Amino acid sequence: MAELTESVAHVIEQLSRLPGIGRKSAERLAYHILRVHESEALALADAIRDVRKNVRYCSTCFNLAEDEQCEICQDARRDQSMLCVVEQPRDLMALEQSATYRGLYHVLLGRIAPLDNIGPDQLTIDALVDRVRDGNFQEIIMATNPTVEGDGTALHISNRLQDQDVKLTRLARGVTAGSILEYTNKEILADAISGRQPL
Ligand SMILES: [Zn+2]
Repeated sequence: MAELTESVAHVIEQLSRLPGIGRKSAERLAYHILRVHESEALALADAIRDVRKNVRYCSTCFNLAEDEQCEICQDARRDQSMLCVVEQPRDLMALEQSATYRGLYHVLLGRIAPLDNIGPDQLTIDALVDRVRDGNFQEIIMATNPTVEGDGTALHISNRLQDQDVKLTRLARGVTAGSILEYTNKEILADAISGRQPL
């Protein structure tokens, strides 16, 4: 059996380290990269290099940023009295796309996950506590994911913020409009029922 050239083997090995990419997919991607125009393949390489060089975490909220601070932290029109705590930059993006929230954010860069050996110290919780203590926030909205780990993380943070003079709230977990109750996760339904509000 013929062997892969060294470079092909290397790119397959690198691609197969990406999440969700197994050996077969890595091979397919490698052959695709070899088949497309050279400029297209190099554009991909450049994009990877640029994103790693130019993007960092916002020094205030840990969102992705191309400057010291992210665009949201730099935007004076945002409501400076509200702080929404999310697990990942992609959660922040999802909330931004819903276009209902106009306050500030704090990105934890993960969640407390004892089974994966991720403790509070590996997240940005200390920075959050400092920020709340030194800031003028009136409300902190916990928007961690509605999972066991997300709830545990929110609980840990609310304990850490207990002696601060701020209102702590949690995202409501209604059944989203248009969803079919039958197919909705039981826990979400239970939360939706116990958290029901008068019309
Ligand atoms: Zn920021």
